[in-house]
Amino acid sequence: MSVVTRFAPSPTGRLHMGHAFSAIRAHDLARAAGGRFLVRIEDIDGTRSRAGHVATIIDDLIWLGLTWDDEVAFQSARLDLYGAALARLRSMGLLYRCYCTRAEIADALSAPHGAVAAYPGTCRGAAARDAPHCWRLDMAAAVARATATGDDLSWTDHGGRVANAALAQGDVVLARKDAPASYHLAVTVDDAAQGVTDVVRGVDLFEATHVHRVLQALLNLPVPQWWHHDLLTGADGQRLAKRHGAPTLAAMRAAGVDGAAVAAALRAGRVPEVRAGRVPETRAGRVPEVPA
Ligand code: GLU
Repeated sequence: MSVVTRFAPSPTGRLHMGHAFSAIRAHDLARAAGGRFLVRIEDIDGTRSRAGHVATIIDDLIWLGLTWDDEVAFQSARLDLYGAALARLRSMGLLYRCYCTRAEIADALSAPHGAVAAYPGTCRGAAARDAPHCWRLDMAAAVARATATGDDLSWTDHGGRVANAALAQGDVVLARKDAPASYHLAVTVDDAAQGVTDVVRGVDLFEATHVHRVLQALLNLPVPQWWHHDLLTGADGQRLAKRHGAPTLAAMRAAGVDGAAVAAALRAGRVPEVRAGRVPETRAGRVPEVPA
C-alpha cells in the first residue's frame, strides 16, 4: 500500500518553526516512500479560523520548499461527511446532548491540545430540551461497543504498540455547539476519506489518538500508523511556540530568511537561530529524534 501522509494546520494563527518541522517530517516520510503528501486546512472552528491565515500558510509551505499532491482540502467544505458520521454514532446510541456552558467546563476539553481533565458527565442521561448543546461521546459505552468484537483498540506509534487509554479522555465532544463537528470527529473522518496511512504530528496530540482509534473502530474505518514527534525546543529548552515569542515563518520570510536553508537545518537536526536576512547559525536547539 502506498504511503499517504498529511499536514493539517488550523488557520487560527501563523505557523512557527514547530509547524515547519512537522510538515517537513510528514512530507519527507511520504516522499521517501514514493507516496503522497497532502495538505488539509482544519478550519471548522468558525470563530477562530481566519481566511487570511490560509494564504499565509500556503506561502510558508512553498517557502520551505515543500510540494504536495492533490488540491488543498478544507474541512469547512466537508461538513456533510462529518454530519453523516455523527448520525451513525447517534444511531448506535453512543452520543448524548450536553448543555453545559463554556463557563461550566474548561475550554480545553474540546481543544485538540487541551490539558486532559475529563468531562464529569453532567449531562449524560439528562432529558432533551430546547437549548444550545454539543454532542458528546459516551466513552464507556463506545469502548464497550468497540471492544465487543475482540478489537483491543491498541495502535502503533513509531512501530511500537500502544495500549488504548481512551477511557481517561472521558466523554469528548464530537460536535460543538457552534460547529457540526469537533477536531476529533473531523480528523478521524478525513484521515480515512483521504486514505492517510501514516499520521505524523506532535506528541501534544498523542492522547487524542486513543479517541481517534475508538472512532475508527466504531465507524469501521482503516487504522493508520502514527508517528508522534517531540516538540521542538529552542536553545533555552523551551517549546518553540508562538507564546514564547518564537518568530513566525511569515515573519522570517518577510525578513528575507531563506526557507530552504531553514528546512535543511531542521532536516539535519538543528533548530536554526533566526536572524533577519540570513540563515542563522545554529545553537543548541533540539530537534527530536525520529527513527528511520
Ligand atoms: N489541526 C491540528 C492542529 O493544528 C492538527 C491535527 C492533526 O495533525 O491531527 O493542531
